[in-house]
Amino acid sequence: MIKKIKEVISSLMLVELLKGMALTGRYFFSRKITVQFPEERTPMSPRFRGLHALRRYPNGEERCIACKLCEAVCPAMAITIESEQREDNTRRTTRYDIDLTKCIFCGMCEESCPVDSIVETRIFDYHGEQRGDLLYTKEMLLEVGDKNEAQIAADRAADAKFR
Ligand code: SF4
Ligand code: SF4
Repeated sequence: MIKKIKEVISSLMLVELLKGMALTGRYFFSRKITVQFPEERTPMSPRFRGLHALRRYPNGEERCIACKLCEAVCPAMAITIESEQREDNTRRTTRYDIDLTKCIFCGMCEESCPVDSIVETRIFDYHGEQRGDLLYTKEMLLEVGDKNEAQIAADRAADAKFR
């Protein structure tokens, strides 16, 4: 009975409404946490697994030695590699495709690579307007690597400290 009376008094005094307005007021004057993407971005881990890239050595040579470990380990069978032996007896890919419509961004390709060639970058804001747009070829992956090498190298160095 006393509980019921308390509820009626509380209801008449608009206590719940005032509590709600106090909460709204507290957030209204506090520091905003909404991020104005894409001008602003939230902090990101160096281990973020976004768009893939193929890397080169500083002399411009492709890192990938066409060992096909990444292709074998990929659980989504998203990677397709063809390779041939060059005149200097080294092996390089003639085709390196990743079908991003199949990829589950598990990171196993980059974990398996013995020469740090295939990596996943911080890039997540990419899109395709047709299905084929998300089939990334070797040339496209090398271009992503070339454009983002500084960030990729910094992220790999930061990640190495935690291993
Ligand atoms: S991130 Fe995983 S699913 Fe995607 S290509 Fe690499 S191994 Fe395959
Ligand atoms: S990217 Fe790495 S794991 Fe994949 S074929 Fe090239 S060297 Fe091997």
